[in-house]
Amino acid sequence: MDEKEILEIRKQFPIFKQKMHGRPLIYFDSAATTQKPKRMIESLTSFYANEYATVHRGVYELSMKATDKYNASRETVKKFINANSEKEIVFTKGTTESINLVAYSYGDSNISQGDEIIISEMEHHSNLVPWQMLCRRKKAKLKVIRMNDHGELVMGDLQRHLSENTKLVCVAHVANSTGTVNPIKEIINKAHKFGAKVLVDGAQASAHIKIDVQELDADFYAFSSHKMYGPNGVGILYGKKTILDAMPPFQGGGDMIDHVTMEKTTYQHTPLRFEAGTPTIAEIIAFEKSLDFIEEIGLKNIASWEKLLLNYATEKIQNLSQIRIIGTAKEKGAIVSFIVDDEHPLDIGTFLDLEGIAVRTGHHCAQPTMAHFNIPGTIRASFGIYNLFSEIDGFIEALNRIVKKLQ
Ligand code: PMP
Repeated sequence: MDEKEILEIRKQFPIFKQKMHGRPLIYFDSAATTQKPKRMIESLTSFYANEYATVHRGVYELSMKATDKYNASRETVKKFINANSEKEIVFTKGTTESINLVAYSYGDSNISQGDEIIISEMEHHSNLVPWQMLCRRKKAKLKVIRMNDHGELVMGDLQRHLSENTKLVCVAHVANSTGTVNPIKEIINKAHKFGAKVLVDGAQASAHIKIDVQELDADFYAFSSHKMYGPNGVGILYGKKTILDAMPPFQGGGDMIDHVTMEKTTYQHTPLRFEAGTPTIAEIIAFEKSLDFIEEIGLKNIASWEKLLLNYATEKIQNLSQIRIIGTAKEKGAIVSFIVDDEHPLDIGTFLDLEGIAVRTGHHCAQPTMAHFNIPGTIRASFGIYNLFSEIDGFIEALNRIVKKLQ
């Protein structure tokens, strides 16, 4: 892909028409959440304006059409990650809810005292706290794969921790604070040799790397629409059908039941059993347009453009004095985290904002990663398919000026 093609893609994002503090917006926070293309926004507004109705329960035309679109979206997600069946796609509110669903439903019924769950030091709190909570509920043990100073997993730890006591291994596909891409296929293979199930936190991968859940042989794969040029409030939990079928419901309520009496309730089949209450109908339907946007460009093209941006930004940042990059793994997603000597990340982020540059500062919901590097937080620039080399130039120039001014 070249800048000309990216400029065409950018035109699909209304947000880039505006100025921020009088300057063109440079949006480098796609790892937190991506901006939205017109086709997705139009799907949302058109559904609310012209087609709005609930799903599953209506016998009237509007509701039946909404249900068809809702089901079509599930089918599109299934194809997007090459799941075997649309029954393996559970809609949730986000990666966090997807992981909590597994921790409560699968965890509470399969983990007992003395069992072990393996996670890693680089996890987002979403893929850490639910497992701590489960271990506390069940008196199970949490084992941690450490990372080295490049921010890569110490794979020997996985091998050392795996045993017949291991019931679950939960790791990020891509770490949000450092950008490290983990060898999840290898992790899954190793865990399966011990009969452990694997949950992959794919929040930072699904808009950047082609996911084939069958090829990976992942037992669970969790991700969020809002990081994929899609709407808020939509998460996906992929689970192998045989595993989901054996899991009890997570939340009780409407839509997830088969039959209810005052004495007893029977439940729907998967995935509806896990989708209690009225879902985020318009958003789930509009998510299909985001996947369409990604497919139209192609994940291979997205990955290669983002790699160019990453390499360019990394080289430029490395050349600045008083700056240290946090996360120098060999395999990285489009994320550069760094610190400036003697400066708090928040100060740098605030000065960058005044120049119209949006970066994320802080611990990125990965406090153990920050503890590993003995820092309070980082400044994180993360890229999406709409970012340009000229934006990186503007960012580097501003950063250089800010650092000089502060020192
Ligand atoms: N895991 C990772 C690696 C993430 O980057 C995020 C979002 N920052 C999450 C989980 C949580 O995603 P959500 O807030 O959409 O539930």
